Amino acid sequence: MKTLMAGYARFREGYWHRHQEIFAELALKGQAPGALVIACSDSRVSPEVIFDVAPGEIFVIRNVSNLVPPYAPDTGNHGTSAALEFGVTALKVRAIVIVGHSQCGGIRALMTGPSGSHGDFIESWMSIAHPARARVCDAPDAPGDFDAMCHQCEHESIRVSLGNLLTFPWIKSRVDEGSLTLAGMHFNVQTGTLKEI
Ligand SMILES: [Zn+2]
Repeated sequence: MKTLMAGYARFREGYWHRHQEIFAELALKGQAPGALVIACSDSRVSPEVIFDVAPGEIFVIRNVSNLVPPYAPDTGNHGTSAALEFGVTALKVRAIVIVGHSQCGGIRALMTGPSGSHGDFIESWMSIAHPARARVCDAPDAPGDFDAMCHQCEHESIRVSLGNLLTFPWIKSRVDEGSLTLAGMHFNVQTGTLKEI
């Protein structure tokens, strides 16, 4: 907590001071971010830091392993789907970018398989990426090295999520009419490089 409050003090002195006009305008006019970014909750992968954007520029969804579930308009508490709906239908973002990353703990857990010590939510959530795991494990040229398989699965899970985005009717229609673009990217934590997949 001390670390957080010390950071807040620095924010008030520095960042806030430099951006207070932007914050005041955003408070007055509301937000109009151009892009929606879906990233992992991982502490090393902050979209605002990686894309070096000002306040109000990106609408961010973060969850375990930057996954997008398929469209399922039922009574479940779909946090990611609700944020997608708001970003696309209310804010009318013009791009959705999924940012995966290296050394993703959720993907490693998925590739390891059921551990016997199940939590309450993570295993069910990660089942969204089961098709990615299957693509990696069932490929005839699958690497024998576990780290390499995890790396491949990080990429495949982004592709699965890109496909799932198109199951949302209000995303599919905007992509088809050309008012919304979708992209997948992979961030290398060690080198700080971002590659489109
Ligand atoms: Zn991750």
